[in-house]
Amino acid sequence: MAFLPPSYRGRLAPSPTGYLHLGHARTFWTAQQRARAAGGVLVLRNEDLDTARTRADFAAAMLEDLRWFGLAWQEGPDVGGPYAPYNQSHRRDHYLAAFEQLRAAGAIYPCSCSRRDVQEAAGAPHEAPPGEAWTPDEPIYPGICRPSADQPSLATCHSPLARQGNNWRFRVPDGATLTFTDGHYGAQSATAGVHFGDFLVWRKDDTPAYQLACVVDDAAMQITEVVRGADLLLSTFRQLLLYRALGLTPPAFYHCPLLTDDQGVRLAKRHDALSLHTLRASGKKPEEIQATFDSEARKP
Ligand SMILES: [Zn+2]
Repeated sequence: MAFLPPSYRGRLAPSPTGYLHLGHARTFWTAQQRARAAGGVLVLRNEDLDTARTRADFAAAMLEDLRWFGLAWQEGPDVGGPYAPYNQSHRRDHYLAAFEQLRAAGAIYPCSCSRRDVQEAAGAPHEAPPGEAWTPDEPIYPGICRPSADQPSLATCHSPLARQGNNWRFRVPDGATLTFTDGHYGAQSATAGVHFGDFLVWRKDDTPAYQLACVVDDAAMQITEVVRGADLLLSTFRQLLLYRALGLTPPAFYHCPLLTDDQGVRLAKRHDALSLHTLRASGKKPEEIQATFDSEARKP
């Protein structure tokens, strides 16, 4: 029997922490076009792990605004599907299993540093070498809590530290250069310990950090290509390390250029005037916005 490659599975992964803006819309529009061009499936995953900022009304508005804009998904929290649940807040068992796997492998360690401790002790990350599309995004963790290399692995400890009450960091292989080919930006590389450092996988409030939840879900939902904003380019290297440590096959990646406002400031959820919610309320037609995106995409 001939081997059939898995068909295309893409995803939209919005967070219900505010109204979605034009930047999200453009990235999601690209995701939908790529899924359709490949004859594939689009999954909607509700990234609602940030309980302090997540609101039920935002979650409802998010789905409504996306539908109004012309996006359609074949699997999601509202329509179900074979990889349910599609709300991250209902997927805790998956994240816990990955956490335990990483801990057993000695790939992570507990860190009691506050954000301020890290900022005061950390070095600034090096700028991207020429030709790379990513930009530094957080200070390099200075290794205060990192166990020394000759110290017995935490994995062999018979009374492992409590998961709760600690931040947990992934130990990056210092000096290793990681590469991937981005569907939009082409060949990318970054060096662990120089361009990004030991990163959080679990938070002391006992919730998974973004990097871990994203990798676990993209793998579990059999996503074949991740389309997302270029602000996450550097995180792709972190996530590639997690895929490797968890024995999972990474998807392909396609990062979209970020939209800026008239002053060149990157769009954020505080740009209310450019939120889909406001545009919709003001009578804007989704077709007009889509046409702008399509004509931009055709530019060389
Ligand atoms: Zn620490």
